Amino acid sequence: MSTPRTSPERRPVPALVALANAGRPRRAPRARHGHSDDPFADLKSAQLLLDPLHLSCRVEANDLPVLWAMASEVTRIADALVHGETPPDPDVLNAAGAEARARPLLDLTGRTPAASNLWQYSGAPAELAHRVICELGSLDPSRLKECERPECTLVFYDTTRPGTQRWHAEDPCGWHERQMRYRSKGDDRT
Ligand SMILES: [Zn+2]
Repeated sequence: MSTPRTSPERRPVPALVALANAGRPRRAPRARHGHSDDPFADLKSAQLLLDPLHLSCRVEANDLPVLWAMASEVTRIADALVHGETPPDPDVLNAAGAEARARPLLDLTGRTPAASNLWQYSGAPAELAHRVICELGSLDPSRLKECERPECTLVFYDTTRPGTQRWHAEDPCGWHERQMRYRSKGDDRT
């Protein structure tokens, strides 16, 4: 067999991760409680958060309440999956997803006729809900993890082949953890 393509369960889930982390408290190193910035409090920060997802619909100011509700629902779903608990009903996702419409599209420009679905959305919430629903429907829940660095509560999706990723990102979390371990080893020797 030739090199296998990335299996479906290792495909990244960027919309899910962006929403799951959107309102997540970012704890300062020795602080007991996290402080969270709500990215859906204003249009600019919402657009900034969703920019990397390249939605075809523009985020508008009147989308902010439903996007906020969707993000908090997705956060609770991700938390439940990470901890092996029962997730809440995806009411917001399903309601927003109901505003997505598909129509069949026939393409005869290639050598063989090709059929596909052309998706149309009432706005950014419907498009985002569609993305998250598809991502959740095909992920491997055991690869959805919380960063192991104690100061970090961000969730990430482990797309490594062996599924051994421990930090949401090498920079800063992996780097900090290695530095801590190196220092504590140094302390042991003295
Ligand atoms: Zn982290």
